[in-house]
Amino acid sequence: MSFNVSKIREDFPILTQKVYGKPLVYFDNAATTQKPQCVLDTIEYFHNKINSNIHRGVHSLSVESTEAYEQARETVRQFVNAKSTNEIIFTSGATASINLVAFSFGEAFVGEGDEVIVSEMEHHSNIVPWQLLCERKKAKLKVLPFDDNGDLILEKLDELLTSRTRIIAVNHVSNSLGTVNPIKQIIEKAHAHGVKVLIDGAQGAKHGILDVQDLDADFYAISGHKIYGPTGIGALYGKQELLEQLPPWQGGGDMIATVTFEKTTYNQLPFKFEAGTANYIGAAALASAIKYYQRVGIEAAVEHEDSLLEYATQSLQAIDGVRIIGTAKEKTSIISFLVGDIHPYDTGMILDKMGIAVRTGTHCTEPVMAHFGIDGTVRASLAFYNTKEEVDMLVGGVKRVKQMFG
Ligand code: PLP
Repeated sequence: MSFNVSKIREDFPILTQKVYGKPLVYFDNAATTQKPQCVLDTIEYFHNKINSNIHRGVHSLSVESTEAYEQARETVRQFVNAKSTNEIIFTSGATASINLVAFSFGEAFVGEGDEVIVSEMEHHSNIVPWQLLCERKKAKLKVLPFDDNGDLILEKLDELLTSRTRIIAVNHVSNSLGTVNPIKQIIEKAHAHGVKVLIDGAQGAKHGILDVQDLDADFYAISGHKIYGPTGIGALYGKQELLEQLPPWQGGGDMIATVTFEKTTYNQLPFKFEAGTANYIGAAALASAIKYYQRVGIEAAVEHEDSLLEYATQSLQAIDGVRIIGTAKEKTSIISFLVGDIHPYDTGMILDKMGIAVRTGTHCTEPVMAHFGIDGTVRASLAFYNTKEEVDMLVGGVKRVKQMFG
């Protein structure tokens, strides 16, 4: 059965917009995806009908709100195939999920002289929290490099892993190179040394069916707004036996069992890590996004994006002077490029005037740019609602940019 993109596009009201009088061509999906109508409806319905703070009330609205929130947790559990909802912590996004682990895992397991490994292609969100930890604990941050194609040099991991390594933090899919990393292999290698692994799945959760049990991931961070859900919501998957051993990372309501001035005891999982009023409406809307994504068909969606990526890569490569940054063996839905020596901002600004939204700059991966000795790239990132015709418009736009700069 062919993937019916035009039907799917009808579910995304924003895609009918015009920008500078031109139909919007939205290729900034790695920064944030657009939201289908059902997600917008969930947000509106919640506010209009059942809004009430969760976990604290006996009245009907609060019970309904709480049920919706906990059902959302079950939807996320099923989406990542965790064993239990105790392993799903709602956070404000992938950044918060990573900070949670860097803090709590760091408190429990990282001491002076210990080592943390991140890869050279991480988003700043998966570098800085570990640097903060290393500064706090006098631990050492080590870096797993990638080659000029954008493939991680896995053999180097064997050299980097020592008896002092405590955790490896690596992304599933690079947001600036599009590389799909061999995370299962990385996890296997790490576990052979008794080392834990956090996967930054901000981009990876949009790349096929997830199975944290099959991956044997210790932690997997998810971002709601990158999988068709709202901003301000995300999740952290963590193995229950590990989460049990970690101290809370924030204090406040909901994460406690009892409080006296002498001593506070903490709530059970997953609430121990959810201090304060949770973004329960965001969680319900995220669940709605996940269900929508599943209805569309995750595998079919990825297949469609992959075929668009191949088409975009071939078409852009055919333009004289276009240089693609990131040519890894396994790539998905993200294409970073430069047009001759035209500054990425100029390319982005001109494309914008044609209604084409691409991102320009470092994409929060300055070390990646340093690797290639460049200031930034133009990044087109795809979603299942994008079309071949839109790729053609991008390609036409890039040709026009080239002409304008002589
Ligand atoms: N990690 C990667 C690879 C990303 O691409 C991003 C966002 O661009 C993040 C982390 C941060 O995600 P969030 O916006 O959910 O905090």
